[in-house]
Amino acid sequence: MIPFNKPYLTGKEAHYMYEAVFTGKLSGNGMFTQRCQTYFEQRYGFRKCLLTTSCTDALEMAAILCDIQPGDEVIIPSYTFVSTALAFVRQGAKIVFADSQAEHPNIDATKIESLITSKTKVIVPVHYAGMACDMDQIMALAAKYNLLVVEDAAQAIDSYYLAPNPSSLGEGDKRPLGSIGHLAAFSFHETKNIISGEGGMLAINDERFIHRAEIIWEKGTNRAEFFRGEVNKYGWVDIGSSFLPSEVIAAFLWAQIEHLDEIQNKRKQHWNKYYEALKPLADKGFFSVPLIPEQATNNAHMFYLVCPSLEERTKLIKTLKQNDILAVFHYLSLHSSPYYAEKHDGRILANCDMFADCLVRLPLFYELSDENLDKIIKTINSHYSL
Ligand SMILES: *Cc1c(COP(=O)(O)O)cnc(C)c1O
Repeated sequence: MIPFNKPYLTGKEAHYMYEAVFTGKLSGNGMFTQRCQTYFEQRYGFRKCLLTTSCTDALEMAAILCDIQPGDEVIIPSYTFVSTALAFVRQGAKIVFADSQAEHPNIDATKIESLITSKTKVIVPVHYAGMACDMDQIMALAAKYNLLVVEDAAQAIDSYYLAPNPSSLGEGDKRPLGSIGHLAAFSFHETKNIISGEGGMLAINDERFIHRAEIIWEKGTNRAEFFRGEVNKYGWVDIGSSFLPSEVIAAFLWAQIEHLDEIQNKRKQHWNKYYEALKPLADKGFFSVPLIPEQATNNAHMFYLVCPSLEERTKLIKTLKQNDILAVFHYLSLHSSPYYAEKHDGRILANCDMFADCLVRLPLFYELSDENLDKIIKTINSHYSL
């Protein structure tokens, strides 16, 4: 069976984990944690980074930092992972689900303004497949209505927003995803581009949040300040949780970071090969291939097809499975989920439902061989030439 995903090991993970173990510092915020955080701050210009045990945790920290009060409204695309909404629901927010664009699973920024009320506090753009949402429109709305923006950049490591001309963000700028919103959350789950098994990171771009973020990160204590020698004792000063990962996890992540460019290049090669080979079938109307929005770069997180119907998708997945290839669909609409359907305001989100029914993801991972890639492409070709 060609799996949908296979976690890639760069070779040094166990070595660095061993190093973490034998230096005797196993809990969080040690040398490897700081090395990873500094790397991301320097490479992408995030003002401050904090490693977390997952992207879900980073989103929960963001929801606390946004000071969500019961009844506050948060605008989130319905076509996303549960965690995007869950983190805010835990703080008592009401989720106002937004639809996707017709041509792309990303939030339709042109429809956000009509969802804003006096209770709206946060907009959460999700950069689906690592491709940038329309951040100019979103940041302009945030400025106009005094809202916060939390980027769910779980899939978006090493991807960029290409600011159009004119742009309020700086014309012609190439801005790393996760550096534009007030806060951003990344994932290093084993299904993402660089991994630590479970893992994540909160990027803080608005200075106002840095001090409190460190406290929330360390169980509501000012322990980080204490270790920097800024205060002479530490204690309980706020709410928080144990959001920081152990050094063993950070050591694993460091081994991945060292190979980030190589991983990205290989994934892009696979992605481009899929695209070139399947474009002719897309041109004939059998399905559509991913659209790279004008303002987005492609970090090759995911290669997907959008079939014309649920039935067509089911048939394609079945053919692939019969040929020992595991292709999988993705999100179910959160607005009609068992947990949220009754709380949703009843608006129909047609594009989101379409992607829930019609989108299928193909195997994409570092070690996918040319031979297997060819086999997948051939299987899809013969499926449509019957
Ligand atoms: C993977 C993912 C998450 C959750 O990440 P974890 O690290 O598993 O918590 C959240 N949002 C999106 C869009 C994701 O793809």
